[in-house]
Amino acid sequence: MASEVRGVVARDKGAPVTMETVLVPDPGPGEVVVSVQACGVCHTDLHYREGGISADFPFLLGHEAAGAVESVGEGVTNVAVGDYVVLNWRAVCGDCRACRRGRPWYCFATHNAGQPMTLADGTELSPALGIGAFVEKTLVAAGQCTKVDPRARPEVAGLLGCGVMAGLGAALNTAAVSRGDSVAVIGCGGVGDAAIMGARLAGAATVIGVDVDDRKLDWA
Ligand SMILES: [Zn+2]
Ligand SMILES: [Zn+2]
Repeated sequence: MASEVRGVVARDKGAPVTMETVLVPDPGPGEVVVSVQACGVCHTDLHYREGGISADFPFLLGHEAAGAVESVGEGVTNVAVGDYVVLNWRAVCGDCRACRRGRPWYCFATHNAGQPMTLADGTELSPALGIGAFVEKTLVAAGQCTKVDPRARPEVAGLLGCGVMAGLGAALNTAAVSRGDSVAVIGCGGVGDAAIMGARLAGAATVIGVDVDDRKLDWA
C-alpha cells in the first residue's frame, strides 16, 4: 500500500511551488522508505524550479535531508528499520570496475529508486537530485542512505548530503589544501562556509573569506 503524504512540488517553470499530496510506494527490492525529519533549502532547488536543471516537471524538491528508515524492501542489508540516515544523491553499484578499485565516485552504474513517487492523479514526480525530500516520507535506493550518529540533530546532519560535502570536498579533495597553506574562499554561503571549515581541518594557516554580504562574513 502506497503512503499518502504531503510534499513541496514545482509543477511548472518559474511558477510558485505548491503543497501537494504525494503517493510514496512501498519499497521494492533494494529500496527504502525514509521518514524525513529535516531537509535543508539549497539553491539547486531554485534552479530546478526555474527549469535550469531539466524540463522534467513536476519536481519533488529537497535533497539535503536526514531521517529515519521506515521500511525496507527485499534484499536490503546496509540499513534496517529505525536507522538514522543522511540521504545522498545516487547509490553506487559496488560491483563495476571503478567500485572494485575503491573509487565509487567514478561508479559506472549509479542509481536511484526504481519506482516513481507520484501525485494523487498518478503523474510521476521527478525527485530533485534523485532524492525529493521536502516531503514527509521519500523513496530512495538503499545505497542512498548513510547511517550517522543519532545524536546529530537532523537539521545539521542533513546538510552533510549536499552543502557540507560540496564545500568540504572542494577544500580537502579538489584543492587538496594542506598544512600551512593560504586559502581564499569566494562566497561565504553554506558551501563556502564548509570550504572554510575544510581548509581549517586541513591545517591552512590563513583563510580569507570573500563576500559582498556582511551577514555572511559574520557567519564565516
Ligand atoms: Zn544542494
Ligand atoms: Zn559501481
